[in-house]
Amino acid sequence: MNIILLGPPGAGKGTQAKLLEERHGLKQLSTGEMLRAAVAAGTETGNRAKAIMDRGELVPDAVVVSIIADRLETPDVAKGFVLDGFPRNTSQAQALDAMLAAKALKLDSVIEIKVDDEALIERIAGRYTCANCGRGYHDKFERPKRAGVCDVCGSTAFIRRPDDNAATVRDRLDIYNKQTAPLVAYYRNRGNLRTIDGMAEIGNVTRQIEGVLNGV
Ligand code: AMP
Repeated sequence: MNIILLGPPGAGKGTQAKLLEERHGLKQLSTGEMLRAAVAAGTETGNRAKAIMDRGELVPDAVVVSIIADRLETPDVAKGFVLDGFPRNTSQAQALDAMLAAKALKLDSVIEIKVDDEALIERIAGRYTCANCGRGYHDKFERPKRAGVCDVCGSTAFIRRPDDNAATVRDRLDIYNKQTAPLVAYYRNRGNLRTIDGMAEIGNVTRQIEGVLNGV
């Protein structure tokens, strides 16, 4: 099964994509995570993308399209994938159509996760992850059981994304509303878009996604 999770930053795409990976063996393809890994590794792509990402702007289409093209060639996507953060505009969606057609793959579902803008700002500004295992936390909504210690791996090192600050978040939401939101109509016209309520708690959102996938 191949699906896209569509939604603004902070909607819960990454959280739900990881859960889909665990439950269904679908590979999470997050262009944001791949770019952050490139930044951390100091590759040429990472070095060029860093300043753009820190400002909350989109990196050039050619860069993310080629990242996804490479990932679609790897065997671990054979069981299916969850695209998280890609496509982000119409030209990326068209490039994805062409890549999937060339590989005789189809999109089974596009799931739009809807969340109010004000809730997104609060969610994003408080989130952080374990530096060792990547488990996500939030200052207000999801604290580790023991303060300063990761529930999963016991690490005491945590990281916050440089673009997860109140100023940049508004710009990222603006970009989402202008450039990415038109993809809702793009996929609705194809008949494979389903919209779910992302304001609910994580388990409830997961159940809504399962409900959509059961109907695919
Ligand atoms: P994300 O983790 O999806 O919020 O992405 C973090 C940042 O990576 C974005 O604000 C962009 O700068 C960049 N990025 C991730 N995916 C894309 C994409 N599909 N197109 C352009 N830029 C992207």
